[in-house]
Amino acid sequence: MAFRTQHWRNTVTATSRTPFTATVLGLARVGPRRELKRATESYWAGRISATELHAVARELRRTQLTDLVAAGLDSVPVGTFSYYDQMLDTAVLFGALPTRVADIADPLDRYFAAARGTDTVEPLEMTKWFDTNYHYLVPEIGSGTAFELHPEKLLDELREAIELGVPARPVVIGPVTFLKLAKLGPEELRQRVEELLPLYRRLLGLLAEAGARWVQIDEPVLVTDLTSDELTLVHRVYTELAATESRPAVLVATYFGRPGPALAAVAGTGIEAVAVDFTAGTEPGEVASVPALAGKLLVAGVVDGRNVWRTDLEAALSRLGTLLGSAGSVAVSSSCSLLHVPYTLAAEDGLDDALRSWLAFGAEKVAEVRTLATGLHQGAETISAELTAAREALAGRESDPRLNNSGLRARLAALGPHAARRAPAEQRRRLQRERLHLPLLPATTIGSFPQTPAIRLARAALRKGEIDRAEYETRMRAEIADVIALQERLGLDVLVHGEPERNDMVQYFAEQLDGFAATEQGWVQSYGTRCVRPPILFGDVVRSAPMTVDWICYAQSLTDKPVKGMLTGPVTILAWSFVRDDQPLADSARQVALAIRDETVDLQQAGIRIVQVDEPALRELLPLRAGDQREYLDWSVQAFRLATSGVSDATQIHTHLCYSEFGEVIDAIAGLDADVTSIEAARSKMEVLGDLNAAGFDLGVGPGVYDIHSPRVPGVEEIADSLRAALKAVPADRLWVNPDCGLKTRGPAEVEASLRNMVAAADVVR
Ligand code: GLN
Ligand code: ZN
Repeated sequence: MAFRTQHWRNTVTATSRTPFTATVLGLARVGPRRELKRATESYWAGRISATELHAVARELRRTQLTDLVAAGLDSVPVGTFSYYDQMLDTAVLFGALPTRVADIADPLDRYFAAARGTDTVEPLEMTKWFDTNYHYLVPEIGSGTAFELHPEKLLDELREAIELGVPARPVVIGPVTFLKLAKLGPEELRQRVEELLPLYRRLLGLLAEAGARWVQIDEPVLVTDLTSDELTLVHRVYTELAATESRPAVLVATYFGRPGPALAAVAGTGIEAVAVDFTAGTEPGEVASVPALAGKLLVAGVVDGRNVWRTDLEAALSRLGTLLGSAGSVAVSSSCSLLHVPYTLAAEDGLDDALRSWLAFGAEKVAEVRTLATGLHQGAETISAELTAAREALAGRESDPRLNNSGLRARLAALGPHAARRAPAEQRRRLQRERLHLPLLPATTIGSFPQTPAIRLARAALRKGEIDRAEYETRMRAEIADVIALQERLGLDVLVHGEPERNDMVQYFAEQLDGFAATEQGWVQSYGTRCVRPPILFGDVVRSAPMTVDWICYAQSLTDKPVKGMLTGPVTILAWSFVRDDQPLADSARQVALAIRDETVDLQQAGIRIVQVDEPALRELLPLRAGDQREYLDWSVQAFRLATSGVSDATQIHTHLCYSEFGEVIDAIAGLDADVTSIEAARSKMEVLGDLNAAGFDLGVGPGVYDIHSPRVPGVEEIADSLRAALKAVPADRLWVNPDCGLKTRGPAEVEASLRNMVAAADVVR
């Protein structure tokens, strides 16, 4: 296959704007062994100085950049390094930190104060970055915000890269994304854009002066539904920026979805390049229909930056070939920043050879980008060995029996619609009331109790082989016994076992289900220094044995009060894993749901009367475009119902939701049809209850009566006030009393004091 040679049509400053051919849109930063996490936490603890922290960071950047150049990228993103978060960095860049941190003199400490708060200062709000599991800090742009440019970080990193001989492309978040993610309304957005534009123009000038040939301006918000006013604004912004006199060539990067009409809006300006995510449903036709791209560089994200699968190189190459006709030139890229995948497969020795051959982490994705760029520009024959290797790996994956369990598939196919349906709620309520004898306003918790040092030590000792499984279980049982005794003492009505045996609410299940694999070093930044190691869902999901029954039954054996079985729901298990890309997510959800269903049935069989199936990530997977949301909500609700409808009507199903604004999924919450829903509400002051009522929700509900994200112990009166507020929206016979979320990150003393006050408040209000 030979592709026609390309001509770069931009004649303005032809030498400086030479298009590049191979790149990625951004880089991970915690370090292959989480070096930055460790150093940052040491700095926070006062064990190392700022100078030492900077040195660790610089060394990480240096190796990363030189590795990328050695791997053959001819344009390398610079400035996506961050000590905490790129949105916070952008707030610093434009002088938009809140005034409450202004008098912290040291810039690094001020930065971390805005990120995590101090004893006296509240941090910025944190929320999900689009539909990923990364969290960004929400800039506070209010009457006190007067933008001013502080380009030092970006300029320093640019100079550092240039000194290393790196073809550096500084990256900055674009004005529309920055302001929209700061949650500005339309009027403010328009006004604040005007204030930012001159600063962006100055920044472009400074970057050019410092030697940048290209700059990347990230506008992922272009893949969401924008109003026509917003599209006009986008067009204006980039027309203006393109008119900056001496500037680098501008790449506007979109990712995480189809740019839709925004593509024409940016392409129709004087910028030089656009990045499009071709792993998220964008078809080459959408690009072909934008004539303005003809003179520009199209940075084609054909290597998935968010998932861990090896790229189908043949398919990608042929797609790239199609794109050649639509743009002046085509570069190969990852679909988004590599922030969302682990560093390298080289660090993994635990994966079986077959599975390993199907995967590509960060370093392997960079190699794929390079290979594809070579194939595109020098002919497919120059990469025939790589094409063959990829083809064989893919064929092996397709034919692997673990991806196609006929028994499981037959079971799922045989389930009729009744499998996801329970008796009417009223009928269930009656049966459950007779069986459970709970007081009015039953008090409970969300599941986890503090993960004490003893628990962590035991888990580490088991991993290192210092203790055996039996000893580990003995220690966990002791923890469970303590937690049960504590809850009895405090007078809670529905007890939990405390989840001491769970490292993580998804990993715990993934480790026990066939079809999931765990990595050793597959860390991905979740926020700040917090990293997660998502399991890899690669095959059909089969539960070969009960996963939780022994622990829960042990807890139940210690008390007469009901102990809740505690499971993670199918949507959350998928949201926090790397998922299969060879079948619809809805199909994977049904498989996981069946495994959870089997577990609920076993719990019931063992005498457990209440089972909670947590779905904190229900909101997180909601598609970015409204047009795609219905379908998602349908299958996700069906998966939950499949997971929870196998039990009898007398078994009470609970669910728990948190971490999000529930507005867009409120109907779905009602659709879950759980007998009791505990939901994060303390920070939103119970507003969620009114929304639930409006959606016709009439089941049990436990709006969180205090915020567990802070160590503060809430007072009895304060909790009683929350309960009274809740009672304005919910009748007493439907209201439950519980904290906002699990207690695993809190200290034992706070938890005991807080729960004591919570139970007292329930008594007062009763
Ligand atoms: N049951 C889990 C816990 O209490 C729920 C955690 C969550 O909502 N993220 O820890
Ligand atoms: Zn929660």
